[in-house]
Amino acid sequence: MPRRPQDNASPGGSSDDPPKAKLDRKAAADAAWLFRYLHPYRKWFIPAILGLFFTAGLSLVFPYMMSEIAGGSLRGGSVSLSAADVSAEKVNRAMLLLVGALALQALIAFFRIRWLNFAGERALADLRRETYGRLIRLPMAFFSERRVGELSSRLASDLMLMRDALMVTLPQLVRHGVILVGGLVFVFISSWKLALVMLACIPVVILTVALVGRRIRGFTRDAQDRLAESNVIVEETLQGVANVKAFTNEPYETARYGTAIERYLTSALRSAGAKAFFIAFIIFVLFGTVAFVVWYGAGMLRDGRLTSEEFLRFVLFSVFVGAAMGSLPEVFSQLQGALGATDRIRDYLNEEPEDQSGEGEPSRLRGEVELRGVRFRYPSRPDVEVLRGVSFKAAPGERIAIVGPSGAGKSTVIGLLLGYYDPDEGSVLFDGTPSTEIPLRHRRAQIAIVPQEVLLFGGSIRDNIAYGKTGATEDEIVAAAKKANAHAFIEEFPEGYETLVGDRGIKLSGGQRQRIAIARAILADPAILVLDEATSSLDSESERLVQEALDTLMHGRTSIIIAHRLATVKDADRILVLRNGQAVESGTHEELSAKPEGVYRMLAELQFGTAV
Ligand code: ATP
Repeated sequence: MPRRPQDNASPGGSSDDPPKAKLDRKAAADAAWLFRYLHPYRKWFIPAILGLFFTAGLSLVFPYMMSEIAGGSLRGGSVSLSAADVSAEKVNRAMLLLVGALALQALIAFFRIRWLNFAGERALADLRRETYGRLIRLPMAFFSERRVGELSSRLASDLMLMRDALMVTLPQLVRHGVILVGGLVFVFISSWKLALVMLACIPVVILTVALVGRRIRGFTRDAQDRLAESNVIVEETLQGVANVKAFTNEPYETARYGTAIERYLTSALRSAGAKAFFIAFIIFVLFGTVAFVVWYGAGMLRDGRLTSEEFLRFVLFSVFVGAAMGSLPEVFSQLQGALGATDRIRDYLNEEPEDQSGEGEPSRLRGEVELRGVRFRYPSRPDVEVLRGVSFKAAPGERIAIVGPSGAGKSTVIGLLLGYYDPDEGSVLFDGTPSTEIPLRHRRAQIAIVPQEVLLFGGSIRDNIAYGKTGATEDEIVAAAKKANAHAFIEEFPEGYETLVGDRGIKLSGGQRQRIAIARAILADPAILVLDEATSSLDSESERLVQEALDTLMHGRTSIIIAHRLATVKDADRILVLRNGQAVESGTHEELSAKPEGVYRMLAELQFGTAV
């Protein structure tokens, strides 16, 4: 799973090097937005953060007490640790204090971890729910412009990044921040002169962090992009594994994946090289600074400008400060990643969802469907006009078959009926009312679709049929299955209606899946029916069962059928021939077959192999 999705995948996602002020403002806005989700859980979150400050502060007690205990023994410039010099009482007192501080720290840590997780997980659960709820309501155009596999894996990894930031990085930031600031205070109290010597070395560290850090981020992002690319190959080929096998393309895909992984590897190793240099440099400079300061302090100690307690305290706190400072770049880069992820999630949430109006039960349509002068281009391909002034009208209960060469625009007509897209010009009308005046929810509630490739959801057969009507009773489900000619085969399974169907209904045949989809549509009881006939031919028995089920389903409903089978075309009340986005012919099978130079006649000869 890609840890850092490509930035260019989302509009307004964090770009490589935006101006700093803009980045800061954006980062602040992202952080503020994220904290909005924590607001309902502030009763847990705020004490948890306060607890964090407290425990981080308490951890400063250790170097202090250590210097108290050991420093006394070094008094007078003697470096020999004589047991007699150390007052037993002082050690015991310090020890007791240490144990007390430890116990207090443990107690607070227990509660603050629980509270932080409670608040954080709940806030994230809300965010996950809201993001999914919004995403699923976005218009089709949003999904057709993106690769859905990539979208879902990015979403998952972005939410994971945000979770890590909240549960792991934020506590680290507080802890290291407190230790850094508190430690520096103690360092200055111990010896401001030495502290200044130490601080003089810091700009070198900061400059390196800034320069190398930026390069590392660039490399890391590149590596993550490469990883995301290789993941797309895995997702696509596993989803279409049957195709890969059918073409015996396993070696080809293995090689393709291998190349992608090689690209990732190159990138990741380059990033690792930079990181290794960075860490080596930090260790050298940071601890080199500490060593230099200790050496300098030792001189001051010899000259009597510093007491042994001050010196020891200084050294111990310097190590603490150094460690905190060394880990801050990592913490910041993680936070930056999380804020980038936040930014992308915010972009998704800011997308305009589909029309959500239409409370209550929709009033039933009679089923008259009309397309009036419809012109349409897909938003993702504005240069191609797919429908160029299509008009037709279906009376309630009429069966209209749409035929035409591949790419003529048949599926597009269906997409417009279902309101996946709106026409650029012209209108879609139901019972004479323009679709724009009917809430999308009501419109779709009146239309059921039996698609070409039936997608069954992971779950039981019962769940899959009930998808047509949430809350359907057992009797309704069985009745629908009977009408769809599906009851008999379902009963043959040992677990009947409880039989689980796989990811894509692998256990069921094409004809069986069709009949489940028909049962679903029967249960939905729509006024209008959209059928996208399967192109792959079923065997004659299966075809008979499916056709019978379809006849039952179509009875008394307006049916718009993308027809691939002669039976459907012949039985249709009217046939609409689409070519190049225009309705070129319309009439019954007999009427159209009689046209000597007709498009339908030619198509029928080609498609059905019959001279009509
Ligand atoms: P087929 O019988 O092969 O399914 P069709 O008649 O149903 O074809 P459509 O799927 O409606 O044809 O496609 C019409 C045109 O619109 C084609 O040129 C296709 O490339 C284009 N098209 C379809 N869907 C999209 C989309 N989501 N974005 C951009 N262009 C699309």
